[in-house]
Amino acid sequence: MKHIKPLPMPLNVAKLFWKHVKKGSPDECWMWTKSKGRKGYGMFKVYFPVSDPVKPGKQFTLYAHRVAYFLHHGVDPYPDLVLHSCDNPPCCNPSHLSTGDNQKNMDQMKERGRRSRGETYPTARFRDQEVVELRIAFSALAWGKKEAFVQLEAARRNCTVRAIKHILYGDTYKHVGHFQTIEHRYLTPDQRQIICDVYTANRDRKTFRGIVVCLAAKFNVDRNSILKTTKHLRR
Ligand SMILES: [Zn+2]
Repeated sequence: MKHIKPLPMPLNVAKLFWKHVKKGSPDECWMWTKSKGRKGYGMFKVYFPVSDPVKPGKQFTLYAHRVAYFLHHGVDPYPDLVLHSCDNPPCCNPSHLSTGDNQKNMDQMKERGRRSRGETYPTARFRDQEVVELRIAFSALAWGKKEAFVQLEAARRNCTVRAIKHILYGDTYKHVGHFQTIEHRYLTPDQRQIICDVYTANRDRKTFRGIVVCLAAKFNVDRNSILKTTKHLRR
């Protein structure tokens, strides 16, 4: 959380701030209604008037839940984190907010199992079942068809190619399983030996490029993997 800084606050910002919060009963989550940033946290823009003696004419974008804590308690939480007991990033209900350090945050997350609970996270786009289906379909494809598959799924689900890749390789939704591990993308020692033998037997020929293509198809990897495997044989 290196991007947490002290809160620069112009005077009389409270009224404007709470206008953007949909207040409910004391127990409910009070949702931030304006823009949201990384991981769904509410973002609050503050402007200092030109006449401000300290920061004339400056503007800042602040985390809304931190501002909520600040306005409620009158104390800047910096350098502590402001943690949500409700696990709901855009919530600005002060009774759901507490300060803590990174360790406390990790402990809380562990308790609630948030780190491994993609589906219940408010900004999640995929159901766990969908993720499994995507991964199984992906791992069954030949290497040459994987890229097209990723592009198509990204377009169909209206998300980025990167998001799909993160899912497929287990960077996100790790708890669901079935993802393509690094080992699957590489070759076994036996396969490496075969490739090196073929390379050595054909090293003087100019047709090696064609052989690379054949080997790549045979072992269901990309051509670079073949080239890397035989790299030590070239000078
Ligand atoms: Zn809440």
